[in-house]
Amino acid sequence: MNNSDPTILPENVEASHSLKRRIYLGALPFGIVAILIGWAFKSYAGEITLVEHVIFPILFVSTLGLFLALRWSQRALAVVELSLFIVTSMGLLSRFYEVLFLLNTPLDPYHIAAFSDLFYWFPLVYVLAFLTFETRRSNIIGSTLFFIAALVIGLISGLQDWLSGDGPKMIYLLSRFYMANITYIILLWVSVYINEYSIRGRTLAEAMERLALTDHLTEIANRRQLDEVVLQEISQVQRYEQALSGIMFDLDHFKQVNDTYGHDIGDYVLKEVVRTARPLLRPADLIGRWGGEEFFIIARHTNIANARILAERLRQAIAAHEFKWIGSITASFGVAEYYAGEKVDDWLKRTDTALYQAKHEGRNKVNIAK
Ligand code: GH3
Ligand code: MG
Ligand code: MG
Repeated sequence: MNNSDPTILPENVEASHSLKRRIYLGALPFGIVAILIGWAFKSYAGEITLVEHVIFPILFVSTLGLFLALRWSQRALAVVELSLFIVTSMGLLSRFYEVLFLLNTPLDPYHIAAFSDLFYWFPLVYVLAFLTFETRRSNIIGSTLFFIAALVIGLISGLQDWLSGDGPKMIYLLSRFYMANITYIILLWVSVYINEYSIRGRTLAEAMERLALTDHLTEIANRRQLDEVVLQEISQVQRYEQALSGIMFDLDHFKQVNDTYGHDIGDYVLKEVVRTARPLLRPADLIGRWGGEEFFIIARHTNIANARILAERLRQAIAAHEFKWIGSITASFGVAEYYAGEKVDDWLKRTDTALYQAKHEGRNKVNIAK
């Protein structure tokens, strides 16, 4: 959960915040009702203690206030969860203190009931720490501080009981309690690690796959991705009898650009051609770099007539575009519709031949394959 981790994207952080906000909005009403029931029941039974007289109103007002703040504002989350963590910790610790010190008839049934009631609620603090603190370190500090505070209170009380003769039973009870707490902390930590580990593995695998399929200069599909998608599309065409066309285009006299202006300007032109072509493509079209200054468009659900229109629009857009430093450049296009049953290589060859023919006929031209 470390925000400085480069494998965690800002949109993931935002999504996790909005998820957390919904969790709090869903869970807080239950907490508020639980507080009200405890408060009402103890008051009614006349068993409300000194500390509870203070804790219940504070817990009720603060959880209700935090719930309203969260409903009202998207950005209240950080403040709300930190406040919730502090209020819950303080409430539990003061009640723990009271149960150990102020109920001075150790190990009577009511004492044990009050003690075990606390058992249920202590792990809540570790879960809240896990949700609240976004860096692993502050999470550990939050949980540990709380645990140490509880440990100190318990040790002093256990020592007093020991000296007054009731000791061993109380120490037994307390040590079980601390063992349970440590177990919760460790289990939460193990699960955090496993989670992060698998998320990081997945993010890395996705990033590597993206890299392996993307042309690093133009950031469109590379030849490998084009090869893969062409095969997928062909099996679709055969199964569903859809139209499929390929458009191959190559920049005209591009070598001159490199020779005259240098390789960097050549690279800029390649990127600018992609930027010019992209807005004209539909979501279903995939453009990729076939190699060098040659591009291929997989036009899904597109027959030859529509593919020609698309190619013609692209040709005009590139020819009309004003490129920095070099002015204008043109491209030649070969277009071929895929025939069901045709071999992939034959289809690509027809596209390529059509392009070659366009070059032959003077360039800056769209040529349709036979
Ligand atoms: P034609 O109109 O016949 O296509 O002529 P052309 O000059 O475009 O064709 P040719 O194949 O002779 O030259 C292609 C040039 O594209 C040669 C190569 O240096 C250049 N090129 C290929 N890949 C890149 C690249 O990634 N960056 C740059 N700057 N140039 C590249
Ligand atoms: Mg060329
Ligand atoms: Mg070429």
